[in-house]
Amino acid sequence: GDWLGILGGGQLGRMFCHAAQSLGYKVAVLDPDEHSPAGAVADLHIQAGYQDEAALARLSERCKAITTEFENVPALSLETLADNVRVSPAGAAVAIVQDRIQEKAFIRKAGVPVAPYVAVRQSEDIVTAPDTLFPGILKVARLGYDGKGQARVSSRAEAMAAFEGFQQAECVLEAMLPLASELSVILARGYDGKVALFPSAQNEHRDGILAVSTVDDSLLDASLAGQAADAAVSIAQALEYVGVLCVEFFVLRDGSLVANEIAPRPHNSGHFTMNASASSQFEQQARAMAGLPLGNTDSLCPVVMLNLLGDLWFAENSGTAREPDWAGVLAIPGAKLHLYGKAQARPGRKMGHVNVLGATLAEARVRAQQVAQILGIEFRP
Ligand code: ATP
Ligand code: MG
Ligand code: MG
Repeated sequence: GDWLGILGGGQLGRMFCHAAQSLGYKVAVLDPDEHSPAGAVADLHIQAGYQDEAALARLSERCKAITTEFENVPALSLETLADNVRVSPAGAAVAIVQDRIQEKAFIRKAGVPVAPYVAVRQSEDIVTAPDTLFPGILKVARLGYDGKGQARVSSRAEAMAAFEGFQQAECVLEAMLPLASELSVILARGYDGKVALFPSAQNEHRDGILAVSTVDDSLLDASLAGQAADAAVSIAQALEYVGVLCVEFFVLRDGSLVANEIAPRPHNSGHFTMNASASSQFEQQARAMAGLPLGNTDSLCPVVMLNLLGDLWFAENSGTAREPDWAGVLAIPGAKLHLYGKAQARPGRKMGHVNVLGATLAEARVRAQQVAQILGIEFRP
């Protein structure tokens, strides 16, 4: 069969492998880690760095199309590969999204509101920042994720200290917004410009990490859902994006919508699609990169996704890891367990997720509550 290639060997790559293999493809994974979650299930694991020219050449010779599963892949590697093989998303789109300064400016230019912010390249930029940005959040422009590389700052002095703490790496300083809720839109866009949108997910973060995503028609105001969908499509079109893309949004207490950030890949908040949608986000990724028709994105049922972080492996006040009660989880109707095959559990590390399905949102929530109780996850239905 034909081969598809992916840069990155994390859990997103692993779930991509499963989906692409279901469509009859063989998958080659490029990742330096000998024990990467995707490398373990790939048809070929090329164990090398993302800039290793020989490894990139091997990948492009083998594969008919290449994608990426993490946003910090060197954009130049994507461009190099694109000389010989179809690459999606393009290095140019990924380069914009990798840098919060460029990303925010780009989103705004696409006509979508973002939080008030300034780019911080030197301390002077904090001195001259408008008062309205405090209290705010200082975020490193590159390489931050799961709330890492961020500092909540209540004053200019605190922002200055945080900037020093980040070794004066380029940052954005944005205003702390009064959030009513958070949502995300995941879409796929093909080489032909056709777009398929999944229903938006309502997201709950804890300590800067996604904890719960809930998806049901009844959750969202239709006009807000429409605005978010339109904004995500505008951004994808402006980026001339091919592949799966996520846009995170804030809903403010006054009801307005603000785009937070873009992920140039399938997203944690889209894992619900694996069980509650006619096609998964990973199947869409394979379809889009291969130039196949995009899959149907209809919802099959209401769903609550619970993230499984490494913390669950550590009983309270105990330093030793123990395996959570999976059998207990699997005894609950509608609970679909996905584990990423990571050998070491660490607090804050994403180890898996559970999609909890129900005939109604209320039923999905009651079941999610049961799953949460068994695992020791905080969840309020
Ligand atoms: P991810 O893992 O999603 O890539 P990240 O490290 O890039 O996370 P952000 O998405 O920028 O970080 O922020 C993480 C969370 O912090 C947001 O989901 C939101 O809950 C909160 N947050 C971020 N920026 C703001 C803001 N300007 N106002 C209020 N809350 C915010
Ligand atoms: Mg991010
Ligand atoms: Mg985020």
